[in-house]
Amino acid sequence: MHFATKAIHQGQEPDKETGAIITPIYQASTYVQPAPGQPKGFSYSRTDNPTRQALEKNLAPLENARYALVFSSGLAAVNNILNTFKSGDHVVSASDIYGGTYRLFTRVFQNYNIEFTFVDPTDLNNISGAIKANTKLLWLETPSNPLLKVTDIKAAVAIGKKSQLTVVVDNTFATPYLQLPLDLGADVVLQSTTKYLGGHSDIVGGAVITNDEKLHEQYKFYQNAVGTGASPLDCFLVLRGIKTLALRMERHCENARAVAEFLEQHSKVEKVYYPGLPGHPGHEIAKKQMRDFGAMLSFEPKCTDDQAKKLVASTKIFSLAESLGCVRSLINHPPTMTHASVPADVRKKIGISEKLIRLSVGIEDKRDLIADLEQMLDQI
Ligand SMILES: *Cc1c(COP(=O)(O)O)cnc(C)c1O
Repeated sequence: MHFATKAIHQGQEPDKETGAIITPIYQASTYVQPAPGQPKGFSYSRTDNPTRQALEKNLAPLENARYALVFSSGLAAVNNILNTFKSGDHVVSASDIYGGTYRLFTRVFQNYNIEFTFVDPTDLNNISGAIKANTKLLWLETPSNPLLKVTDIKAAVAIGKKSQLTVVVDNTFATPYLQLPLDLGADVVLQSTTKYLGGHSDIVGGAVITNDEKLHEQYKFYQNAVGTGASPLDCFLVLRGIKTLALRMERHCENARAVAEFLEQHSKVEKVYYPGLPGHPGHEIAKKQMRDFGAMLSFEPKCTDDQAKKLVASTKIFSLAESLGCVRSLINHPPTMTHASVPADVRKKIGISEKLIRLSVGIEDKRDLIADLEQMLDQI
């Protein structure tokens, strides 16, 4: 079965009793047991819920995996993975990652004596150079946020596996429609379902997806022990979103390519970060490991830092908002918004300029999107 068919059919059997073609929102906390201690399958919704299970059964095969667990947020999913490590363990992480992931690593888990080294994994030597005797986890995000750096997943996994590391890829920007990290050897995929999978800016959620039964059992234990599973309504909305993922991604990518090409030739634009442009340093790797190049891009206008802050508030169709991956186009100023929790000196080191502007290109008509950016750049 191909992706677009799987997205609609996998784990989506019509209800056996009623014929309902869509899995209902099972808004129940507890379940009647025929005999004490012998539930029919579900016992308590912190542990498991039929709507949540339907989403997990739908999502796992999309990443070519056996197991998926869904959470109340992407960061709850990140937290769940980190919970399986212990004081004294060391993590090698990509430096250019989602700001909230960076905050969780450095301001929560570092307090529990889990140690982090942040490297630019696009140079593979940086990964091998950071691995120590106590390294347990390699954390990758590709394409990265907000600089759209592309890491060679297969090559990075090979390095991690030599040292028996668990390799996690945050696949939020690409979605399983564009990139399948488990097929490239990664152990675990992380998704913020808030983004493209939900697709409509109406839920916050996350997922942890793997083929490794032992890891899955550990993750499931922590999810129940901590109580971070996604709510039935949120799962219902993600299931609805996934049904149009393939269609949406095609339009997202088409629009983003047009916007990137427009910005690249514009005289008021200094630099465009989009892996679909042949001049992007990760273009060849992206071509190899992705079906298309996604719909996230960043750019630096030729203006002062202060002017850039005014520009992002001047678009009419792109809405100034955090988050990404929804049908509606969004514009964001990473240094003051999504990446404000990354200290200024660290931002500078990573290469996040104070006038960087990030776009999440939606599925509107691309002519309107380009016209909106044109009137924005005319203000410089
Ligand atoms: C949004 C995001 C997260 C965190 O997900 P939430 O649902 O906001 O908790 C993690 N990684 C990436 C790449 C993201 O874009």
